[in-house]
Amino acid sequence: MANLNIDTIKERTFDAIVIGSGMSGGWAAKEFTGKGLKTLVLERGRDVKHLKDYPTTNLYPWEFPHHGVVPNEIQKANPIVNRCYAFGEDAMHFFVKDAEHPYVQEKPFDWIRGYQTGGKSLLWARQTQRWSDFDFEGPARDGFAVDWPIRYADIAPWYSYVEKFAGISGNRDGLAELPDGEFLPAFPLNAVETYFSNHLKKNYKGRHVISARCAHLSKPNQIHLDQGRGQCQERTLCQRGCPFGGYFSANSSTIPWALKTGLCTLRPHSVVESIIYDDKKGKATGVRVIDAQTKEAIEYYAPVIFVNAAALNSNLILLNSRSSRFPNGLGNDSGTLGKYVAFHNYSAHINAEYDGAKEWTTDGRNPAGGGYIPRFRNLHKQETNYLRGYAAGFYAYRGRLQSGEGIGEDLKKNLVNKELGGWQVGSHMMGETIPKESNYVALDKSLKDPWGIPQLKISVDYDDNDEKMKKDYIEQMTEMFTSAGFKNIRPGTDHRAPGLDIHEMGGVRMGKDPKTSMLDKWHRLHACPNVYVTDGASMTSTSCQNPSLTYMAFTARAVDHAVGEMKKGNLS
Ligand SMILES: Cc1cc2nc3c(=O)[nH]c(=O)nc-3n(C[C@H](O)[C@H](O)[C@H](O)COP(=O)(O)OP(=O)(O)OC[C@H]3O[C@@H](n4cnc5c(N)ncnc54)[C@H](O)[C@@H]3O)c2cc1C
Ligand code: SF4
Repeated sequence: MANLNIDTIKERTFDAIVIGSGMSGGWAAKEFTGKGLKTLVLERGRDVKHLKDYPTTNLYPWEFPHHGVVPNEIQKANPIVNRCYAFGEDAMHFFVKDAEHPYVQEKPFDWIRGYQTGGKSLLWARQTQRWSDFDFEGPARDGFAVDWPIRYADIAPWYSYVEKFAGISGNRDGLAELPDGEFLPAFPLNAVETYFSNHLKKNYKGRHVISARCAHLSKPNQIHLDQGRGQCQERTLCQRGCPFGGYFSANSSTIPWALKTGLCTLRPHSVVESIIYDDKKGKATGVRVIDAQTKEAIEYYAPVIFVNAAALNSNLILLNSRSSRFPNGLGNDSGTLGKYVAFHNYSAHINAEYDGAKEWTTDGRNPAGGGYIPRFRNLHKQETNYLRGYAAGFYAYRGRLQSGEGIGEDLKKNLVNKELGGWQVGSHMMGETIPKESNYVALDKSLKDPWGIPQLKISVDYDDNDEKMKKDYIEQMTEMFTSAGFKNIRPGTDHRAPGLDIHEMGGVRMGKDPKTSMLDKWHRLHACPNVYVTDGASMTSTSCQNPSLTYMAFTARAVDHAVGEMKKGNLS
């Protein structure tokens, strides 16, 4: 029963409601308030304020109780998040505790979540590559999924718009498969990364190593200083929350910007249970929230609702929004809700050594992580026995020849040894996976979470296409490493479950045809057009580029559309 006695319906009525305050929700909040709308942002987790709530940000390694290592009992209690590379003693407070947020793994799936203001934008690796028409045209050309209802030209100005505000470093590389953006200066490649880049340029048509593009203020502009952010100091301790606001997060950027307008109400501890659909009015009228602390149910109302709870939670909310008009989930006339979930395949890597360039080393750290190899397979024609392709990271570094062996004087000598080792090089695969009906999420019929909401059942797996792509990555990288003169080449694959890539997408896909998709080209539900979904749930296919920049651009574009509709009186 809603708490009609506690406050008035008027006080719980806004111009817009945004569900989730993370990477995409932060943008919705900023854009709505920037256009003068009274906006409610509902966040299921606690509030995390920029600077104030980064408890580890300035700690030295020896100041951590366990020197940065997550204690055994915490690791054991959290087997899922513990598999994420960023789950260290310095950042574990920004991850959910596995036991507190149960879900059903019909097939193994590592669902990595950060429930707090800012969501996973506090934790991300900040890689921000645009998608191109090779991605948006993929399904139509290669015959999988459904055709995207948009093309690169629709989103390009919105990429520029969000890049300017967020601050993205990179070079203008002039590659059609990885369009250039509005860049701050790139973090340069080091000597061996440059060597490999030049080697590919000389010997391989269409294969490149470029400076990875990332959401760091290498040289802030006025708009970044206006946000209270400063130049990135290249500490690479970003997952702790940055004391300089050197990288983009919702906490350092969009959320405080929205709050500054005075038009944004941020309500933490607010678990959105469902969206309320009014059969008589034929539209959504608001959302039903369970207060995470008191477990009280509260309703909030607005003429437009943005769903930005991150891909799988956005699916959950829609699946759980049942009415007589939509018995199988809000907007689900097509029966596709929860289906065609896809992700990125990160399960292959390769390491090696390089004997040359001994006169060079690195100085300082590179927050961009090194080089990026844009997709080069199946771009202009289908050339392999699998669909789509992969991008890859590439990095090189020199370690110290330090050994912890010996005792007494020998041990001391080993530990203080300053001698530089040779160059180590490495790469990891970032493969596109094909959305399939059989990869789905659904509500579990009996299990509920601590707030009485059905648990999400996840049934997602790799397929033969992924295996073939992985084999090709290993073969191509081994060949390129060999021809570059790298030694001791060690390719490897792992048996990680899907999910650990943290790029899960789909389930509420966009499409031209309401019979086979959930959302139109503006991210509105075909069957309930005052509800927009602009996070990863909306993706028709996954590309192989990191997706968050695209979620941000989609969100800004969709808000612009929603406000236009409001002005025309179509969303009253
Ligand atoms: C370690 C790591 C590295 C990554 N690296 C990259 C990278 O380099 N590049 C890249 O593009 N992406 C990267 N990602 C992924 C990136 O973080 C996500 O794509 C992005 O944060 C998704 O944005 P979002 O708004 O959909 O979700 P989030 O940022 O997760 O925000 C969703 C918010 O919704 C809230 N919420 C959920 N359910 C509800 C509910 N029912 N009611 C109310 N609130 C709710 C959550 O608490 C959360 O705050 C990485 C992620 C991690 C963890
Ligand atoms: S690398 Fe840059 S953004 Fe990351 S913590 Fe350091 S200063 Fe902040």
